[in-house]
Amino acid sequence: MRVISLHADVLVATSRIYQTTCTALRAGDEGFLVDSPILPDELDALPAILEQAGFPVSGLLATHGDWDHLLGRYAFPGAALGCAETTAAQLTGEPGAAQRELREFDEEHYVERPRALGLGAVQALPVPGHVGLGEREELELQPADGHTADGMAIWVPWASALLCGDYLSPVEIPMLSPSGSRAASLATLERLRPYVQRADWVGPGHGSPVAGAQAAALLEEDMRYLNDWKLPAGRRNAAQRAIDQSNRERAR
Ligand SMILES: [Zn+2]
Repeated sequence: MRVISLHADVLVATSRIYQTTCTALRAGDEGFLVDSPILPDELDALPAILEQAGFPVSGLLATHGDWDHLLGRYAFPGAALGCAETTAAQLTGEPGAAQRELREFDEEHYVERPRALGLGAVQALPVPGHVGLGEREELELQPADGHTADGMAIWVPWASALLCGDYLSPVEIPMLSPSGSRAASLATLERLRPYVQRADWVGPGHGSPVAGAQAAALLEEDMRYLNDWKLPAGRRNAAQRAIDQSNRERAR
């Protein structure tokens, strides 16, 4: 797991699998952990890494309800999970779905976990809206549906950072899940554009954080891809072509 600092109050850990990112945000003596790494040793190491860096964890946030972003409670079993209303509705409407997909992944890769995944108290956050952190700071939440039917992007004003969930990835083309939509993905990218334009950093759900200018270039590539199915130059290996194939079938 790679851990880098984007800002005095923003730390990003990137999982060895799928490059799934987990971002610690700090405001005074409170902090949120957004999304999660995947492998058990990474989740085990997280509390000590954050404590050493002086990042408190008062709550968990998830950008969307895909299982690979929901594992924070393995590291912080007592923390409540906040997510968009759309995500909360999906998690309660399809109870056990994330756990089933995690179990399938673990069985395929012979991964052992200390216990089954419990999501605990899921708190539905109004999106668009704000959520406070510490005494002075507020995160801005924007809807980010299209990859799936649920989700939110998080703007961190005091760090000029955008955490966008599964969009604007330097390693993955836009992916339409079974519940996803091409039109909604395009609308989300359009909604994110003003944030990307003023962001110092953009932290995608998969892959290394990118500087604002690079994220702006990814946004144009991703919009072109969703409009014309034109694969971006840096993202057209076999795995990305397989995602492309499935996207085209789903968009029909
Ligand atoms: Zn994901």
